[in-house]
Amino acid sequence: MPHFRLDDDYEALRQSVREFATEAVAPVIGDFYERHAFPYELVRQMGKMGLFGLPFPTEYGGEGGDYFALCLALEELARVDSSVAITLEAAVSLGAMPIYRFGTAEQKERWLPALCRGEALAAFGLTEPGFGSDAAGAATRAALDGDSWVINGSKAFITNSGTDITCLVTVTAVTGVNPDGSKELSTIIVPSGTPGFTVQPGYSKVGWCASDTHELTFDDVRVPAANLLGERGRGFAQFLRILDEGRIAIAALAVGLAQGCVDESVRYAGQREAFGKRIGEFQAVQFKIADMEAKAHTARLAYYDAAGRMLDGVPFKRQAAIAKLVASEAAMDNAREATQVHGGYGFMNEFPVARFYRDAKVLEIGEGTSEVQRMIIARSLGL
Ligand SMILES: Cc1cc2nc3c(=O)[nH]c(=O)nc-3n(C[C@H](O)[C@H](O)[C@H](O)COP(=O)(O)OP(=O)(O)OC[C@H]3O[C@@H](n4cnc5c(N)ncnc54)[C@H](O)[C@@H]3O)c2cc1C
Repeated sequence: MPHFRLDDDYEALRQSVREFATEAVAPVIGDFYERHAFPYELVRQMGKMGLFGLPFPTEYGGEGGDYFALCLALEELARVDSSVAITLEAAVSLGAMPIYRFGTAEQKERWLPALCRGEALAAFGLTEPGFGSDAAGAATRAALDGDSWVINGSKAFITNSGTDITCLVTVTAVTGVNPDGSKELSTIIVPSGTPGFTVQPGYSKVGWCASDTHELTFDDVRVPAANLLGERGRGFAQFLRILDEGRIAIAALAVGLAQGCVDESVRYAGQREAFGKRIGEFQAVQFKIADMEAKAHTARLAYYDAAGRMLDGVPFKRQAAIAKLVASEAAMDNAREATQVHGGYGFMNEFPVARFYRDAKVLEIGEGTSEVQRMIIARSLGL
């Protein structure tokens, strides 16, 4: 088997996103993070670069690329900053992808072009205040009334749901009872500004502080019956598919953060002196950074493998869960060690590693906790 190398198109994309991240994102993102402000101008520039349309066909305004291209872009963004990366990840793999995968021709034509340009953002409303890992337990309800759905309930922690350019949220709701007595789940498109749909104030978060996250409430929200996404009763299968893919994207984002920790640690260890030497000359520091590089590298191979399987059309659920598990744990480990390498300065928000430390934890939680990934892997082994 030849050694793995990216082909020229992937490599050119990786390089252009790397330049954007270092030249446009790195100098300004700390300020947005401190102010918990959403970086609209960066999003606009990412839209111009075509990042929001990467995996979508040109007929809908996309770039005609694939999901692996999206993952490469996420890795390079997260190597510098995770708020910007999660904004792209949630917009594409959670926001636009359900419309592309399950929408009618009319829904795709209506929503995808602006989403692909990054001029509008869509959000994915699955998690509820009372149901996260157990998402199929959803309590939000939607009832058909004439030719409208009437939705009541709430959603928690929804990314990109409250920006000035958010155009819709796809809401998973209980629409009936299945023959086996379980809840019938369906997905419904709720456009921003629909009466009764309220975006609550943003959360005060530990990390991802320049990304947008809100609780959403639905109080007799009425949308046309035609806003059903795909078939009635397919909501469970739909969100499983979106989350399986999304785990590869989150793994790529986590690898970026893990690699960013290596970059910053190598840089700092080459400058900082203690006991008359650069700290990078101490083997204890070298070993920490060597372990960090080994974790980032192996996690990258795991997400490349999962993405490759997905693009080949073969089962990838287990590999996606493995990639998400090992990459998020690599990110968390590397953030802890990179902060240690930086000593007291690592605890100061002006240093990127402080942001990495605050941003790493949620990677072990969002789009399925590490426990959920282990459950998926164990189940795939017949346990
Ligand atoms: C910043 C942020 C952004 C997010 N963005 C979105 C979004 O855009 N859209 C969306 O729908 N959701 C979003 N989420 C929600 C996220 O996916 C959930 O938080 C996550 O799935 C966990 O659900 P929970 O918070 O309800 O935790 P719980 O499900 O209550 O879990 C609590 C703990 O119990 C453990 N646990 C639960 N069940 C089991 C079990 N059977 N076996 C072993 N352990 C178990 C969990 O692993 C965890 O450690 C976001 C979350 C955050 C923090």
